[in-house]
Amino acid sequence: MVPPTTAAPARVRRRRGEGQWALGYREPLNPNERTKKDDDGLNVRARIETIYAQQGFDSIDPADLRGRFRWWGLYTQRRPGIDGGRTAVLAPEELDDRYFMLRVRVDGGQLTTEQLRVVGELSQTYARDTADITDRQNIQYHWIRIEDVPAIWERLEAVGLSTTEACGDTPRVVLGSPVAGIAEDEVLDGTPAIREITRRYIGDPAFSNLPRKFKTAISGLQDVAHEVNDVSFVGVRHPEHGPGFDVWVGGGLSTNPMIAQRLGAWVPLAEVPEVWAGIIGIFRDYGYRRLRHRARIKFLVGDWGVARFREVLETEYLGRPLLDGPAPEVPASPPDHVGVHRQKDGRYFVGVAPVAGRVSGSTLVAVAKAVERVGSRRVRFTAQQKLVVLDVNKSDVDGLTEELATLGLVAEPSPWRRATMACTGIEFCKLAIVETKARAATLVEELERRLADVNATLDPPVSVHLNGCPNSCARVQVADIGLKGQIVTDAGGDQVEGFQVHLGGGLGLDAGFGRKLRGLKVTADELPDYVERVVRRFAAQRAEDERFAQ
Ligand code: SF4
Repeated sequence: MVPPTTAAPARVRRRRGEGQWALGYREPLNPNERTKKDDDGLNVRARIETIYAQQGFDSIDPADLRGRFRWWGLYTQRRPGIDGGRTAVLAPEELDDRYFMLRVRVDGGQLTTEQLRVVGELSQTYARDTADITDRQNIQYHWIRIEDVPAIWERLEAVGLSTTEACGDTPRVVLGSPVAGIAEDEVLDGTPAIREITRRYIGDPAFSNLPRKFKTAISGLQDVAHEVNDVSFVGVRHPEHGPGFDVWVGGGLSTNPMIAQRLGAWVPLAEVPEVWAGIIGIFRDYGYRRLRHRARIKFLVGDWGVARFREVLETEYLGRPLLDGPAPEVPASPPDHVGVHRQKDGRYFVGVAPVAGRVSGSTLVAVAKAVERVGSRRVRFTAQQKLVVLDVNKSDVDGLTEELATLGLVAEPSPWRRATMACTGIEFCKLAIVETKARAATLVEELERRLADVNATLDPPVSVHLNGCPNSCARVQVADIGLKGQIVTDAGGDQVEGFQVHLGGGLGLDAGFGRKLRGLKVTADELPDYVERVVRRFAAQRAEDERFAQ
């Protein structure tokens, strides 16, 4: 006889599903999923062209305005005059301006001078001359009116550019090496794969309803922050098969940052689009859709592990095994392509540094003209918010660099101008808590002046990334000095703009996240003093060649 027991029966714990389509969760589990199920974001374009652009801002359906517009690169910008302290507590309609941010995707960061001129002229005509080069190689306009959007699309598309899936739960712009095809030291040129992916899959309804955004990087060099993308193809030479790509999955920043992991698979150039489609297919089908903050592929990779991820890719999506491959050699610090460098064809490329990616339409038009005057037709953006001019003859290098310098684009920048990045911040971003771009500009100026005696010794430069909120659009966790915007209490007890500090993050050999100094909050006014103190201490104590993140 079984003795009676007073113990409660063991509770069988059933793990709640995470909303994966492949497990049968087809009914939307949150408002974002509902919006996507109600209508594909791609379909909003027709309504913009036929209704909203004709009838104006007030005619826009809220579900389109705050949801589906992103599928075409449009976000409402922040209404001026709302301070960061109120960002989290106001309703969306109180934050919305009647103007838009519009993101133009520049896959691989590659532009012809004709495209650059059109991008600049559109800014002059429709965007109050605003233009930011983002750290995802896009261009961002501000002050766009809904009435002007169809005309902007027409001109962009006439030169082969688009805003398709520049935002939203979609495959975003594909990062590529700014020196693809011309670098002496690249393993191979990833451009054909980038072009094929964008041609086949961008705007394809098969991938226009993902759990969340999906970021891709493809490079024959390690210059596009592959460690923090959802999927990356990193150039590597296979001992038997030659140049190809090593596949990484599951990187991402924001809250819960994760470094991508290698699948251990080697993929030749021609197979990159197919493998990419398999990986994004896994994300679409198995990605978590219940909670937005767990909907990035990094959580799936974290739970499954790379062995299972690779097995599902091979068995369910490709129908064949992938070849094993070696790991790429890791550079001490990833190249940023600033300065004058020789191309493999004997000509030169010139990388120049605007401050934190801020340029203007007029500047871009002037750059296009200057570049054409020296006989080049090619310009690239970098994943560090910089601009590179390709195909410059040696005899034209000095003249071009002088002309670009008059536009505020210097080829021999101080370490501060070179390695400071900033996200959009409170000027235009509705999620922002603090100002970033203007603050980056004054910080760079201050540090150039204050640290004149040590600047020359800072090689590689100490990177400073300013973010307006915890979302990490400017990669706060992988900077030497990462600054995450928040409201802090100053010495007088007032609530003011400030930053949480992360120290010692990096990519390349130092790939890892900076240490969050919990007690340390720096007010915006104290920022130059703080950075100066940290850098002076580092400069005084460092061993020869020691990097900040070591
Ligand atoms: Fe906006 Fe925050 Fe991204 Fe900066 S980090 S652009 S403030 S969402």
